[in-house]
Amino acid sequence: MNPFDVIVTGGGSVGLTTACALGTQGITVAVVEPRPVADTPVAAGHNPRVFAITRASQQIFTALGVWDDMLAGNAYPFRDMRVWDAGGDGAIHFDCADIGEPYLGHMIEPQVIRSALWRRAQSLDSVTVFCPAQVTDFDVTREPVTATLDDGSGLSADLVVGADGVRSPLRERLEIGTRTHDYRQGGLVARVLTEHDHQATAWQRFLPGGPLAFLPTTDGWSSIVWTLPAETAQHLQTIDKPAFHEALGEAFDFRLGRIIDSETREVFPLQRLHAEHYVREHVALVGDAAHVIHPLAGQGINLGLLDAAVLAEVVLTARQRQKRIGSLPVLRRYERWRRGDNQLMMTAMDGFNRLFGNAQPGLSRVRNLGLALAERATPAKALLARHAMGLAGDLPALARISPCSD
Ligand SMILES: Cc1cc2nc3c(=O)[nH]c(=O)nc-3n(C[C@H](O)[C@H](O)[C@H](O)COP(=O)(O)OP(=O)(O)OC[C@H]3O[C@@H](n4cnc5c(N)ncnc54)[C@H](O)[C@@H]3O)c2cc1C
Repeated sequence: MNPFDVIVTGGGSVGLTTACALGTQGITVAVVEPRPVADTPVAAGHNPRVFAITRASQQIFTALGVWDDMLAGNAYPFRDMRVWDAGGDGAIHFDCADIGEPYLGHMIEPQVIRSALWRRAQSLDSVTVFCPAQVTDFDVTREPVTATLDDGSGLSADLVVGADGVRSPLRERLEIGTRTHDYRQGGLVARVLTEHDHQATAWQRFLPGGPLAFLPTTDGWSSIVWTLPAETAQHLQTIDKPAFHEALGEAFDFRLGRIIDSETREVFPLQRLHAEHYVREHVALVGDAAHVIHPLAGQGINLGLLDAAVLAEVVLTARQRQKRIGSLPVLRRYERWRRGDNQLMMTAMDGFNRLFGNAQPGLSRVRNLGLALAERATPAKALLARHAMGLAGDLPALARISPCSD
C-alpha cells in the first residue's frame, strides 16, 4: 500500500485544483487520472469552447501559482457584457468601469487551464499523479480507505475526493443518488470570425429556443455557445458553412455584422444534476461529480473551483486542530458551505432558461421590463455583476481578493 493523506480520483481542472490546494500546504495527495493531459485533442487556440473564469477563480489560480502560466497561454480579459432579449427591446449592459474593476473576467480554453494545473501538480513533492490509471476497487468502510489501481498497485488515505466528472464512477460505486433533469437542449459550440470586432465584450441574446452567447477570444475570433432544442442543434452542426453562417448571423441579429468564417462545431447535451449528498465518511464529491448546471451563465467550472478551495480549507483547518480529515463532521462543513450556493445558482439558471425560453407575449413584456429596470437600478446591477464575477458571497480564503492583487 502506498500511503497518502488524500486520494483524488479525476485529474480534470477541479481535481487538480483540489490536489494543488492541499499539496501546497503539505498534505500528501495521490491524483488518479485515466487521460493524460498531452492527450487533450486540440492545441491551444483551436478549442471551440472557452470558459469564462471569474475573478474568484482567478484568485484561486493566483494563490496556487498557476495564473501567470494561464496568462502566457491565451487567457483573454473581457471588460463588458451585453445581454438582450430577442422578443423586445429590454437590454442590460455590464461595464467593468461601473464597478471599479479592470475587467469582468477572463476567457480561457479548458486545456490551457488543465495543463497549467497539471504542471503545477507535477512540480509539488507532496502530489503524485498516477496517469494513465483508474481505480478498479475501493474500500471506504475501513480506516484508512484503500484503492486498487488497474495495474494492481494499492493506495491508502484518510479521504477520497471524487472529482471524476458528471458520470463520476466513484459516486456511482458508492450509490450516491442524484437529482437530474434533461433540458432536451443541445449546447452548440464553435469558433467564429465576425465582420466587426468583438470589442472585448461577452454578448448574449435570449432567443425562444435558448440563449446564444458570443464570447471574445484573444485572436479576434469568438467562441459561441448556442442553446437550442436538441434536434435543431444536431441539424445546425451538420449543415454546410454558408448556411450555418447565415443562420447564426440572423439569430444574433447581425450584432457583429456577418459571420465570415467558422471552425469546429460540437454539440453537448445539456442537463442539470445534483448529487443527493456531497459527502460520506471518508468521501467528498467536488465539481461536476457533485453538480452540473446549465451553461447559460458559464458558471460550471467556477462553482467546482470554489468547491475545491472550500474543501481544502476545511481539511487544512481540521488537520491544524488535529481532527481526522475524513470524518463526517469535518466533511459536512464542506457540504454545508457549498451546497446552498450551488443550489442557488442552479435554480437561478433554470429560472432564466424557462423565463427567456418562453415566447408568450405576456412573459416577453415582463422580461423586457425586468431587463430595463435592472439596467437602470445601478446598485442592484452592480451587486448582480459582483455576484457573477465571484466577488460576493461567503468565499474561502483562497478565493478572496486582496486589495493589491491587480
Ligand atoms: C457547452 C458547455 C459550455 C460550458 N461553458 C462553461 C463556461 O463558460 N464556464 C464554466 O465555468 N463552465 C462551463 N461549462 C461547465 C464545465 O465544462 C464543467 O463544469 C467543468 O469542466 C467540470 O470540471 P471537472 O473537473 O469537475 O470535471 P471534468 O472536466 O469532466 O473532469 C473529470 C476528470 O475525471 C476523469 N475521470 C473519468 N473517469 C475517471 C475514473 N474512473 N477515475 C479517475 N478519473 C476519471 C476524466 O478523465 C476527467 O479528467 C460548460 C459546459 C458545457 C457543456
